[in-house]
Amino acid sequence: MKLDHAAWAPNRLGHRRATGRIREVKEKMTIRSIVLYRDDPETLRKVSEPFQAFGPEARRLIRDLKDTLNAHQDGIGLAAPQISVHKRAIVVREGAGVEGAEPEPPMAIVNPEIIQASNPKRDFDGCLSFPGLYGETVRPHAIHLRGLDEEGRPLKRRFEGFDAVVVHHEIDHLDGILFIDRARSAEDLYIIELDEDGQPLRVPLPAAVGRWQGEPRVSSSASARGGPTL
Ligand SMILES: [Zn+2]
Repeated sequence: MKLDHAAWAPNRLGHRRATGRIREVKEKMTIRSIVLYRDDPETLRKVSEPFQAFGPEARRLIRDLKDTLNAHQDGIGLAAPQISVHKRAIVVREGAGVEGAEPEPPMAIVNPEIIQASNPKRDFDGCLSFPGLYGETVRPHAIHLRGLDEEGRPLKRRFEGFDAVVVHHEIDHLDGILFIDRARSAEDLYIIELDEDGQPLRVPLPAAVGRWQGEPRVSSSASARGGPTL
């Protein structure tokens, strides 16, 4: 998941998929290419499998997810399918909903399972797999979950407010559910353009046809699932 403030900068709106599957930036750090919906919707729609055991594979995945998320200034959450790995692991940065505060470093959750979700509210949504597209979705603002932490130890955690939104968005990815599916209509999805005074302006997707660079090249599987047609 991503925040929207940095996306107003033209260089971010002009983001293109990096070439090469894996780019070694420096020793020990592995930044993976993020799968974009417009390039490969099928990869993002596939359901991920749980880890049967916590070992080197899980540790490597957690490291890759963290490095890749840290490489995106506006990124606050990432799920394994977004780097083409269909295993149940996510990373999230807590504290992103606190204005002016730097979110926490990424924390990983392996095999997350929601025990209880409550307090649904309409809130901001956006995704690193949909550059330039934002939306309003309804998600729980309180989540109680269990899973494994990044050392493979049992974890039980409660997330509140926007942290719960981020965690819910990332767990959705593990089931092939994308934020466009959670929007009530295409009107709730928007791009950001600058008006003549240079002020950011929301343009709902139906009015932005042909202007959102993330439009899929192939027909969207979202429409087959009853989601908004993009
Ligand atoms: Zn996402």
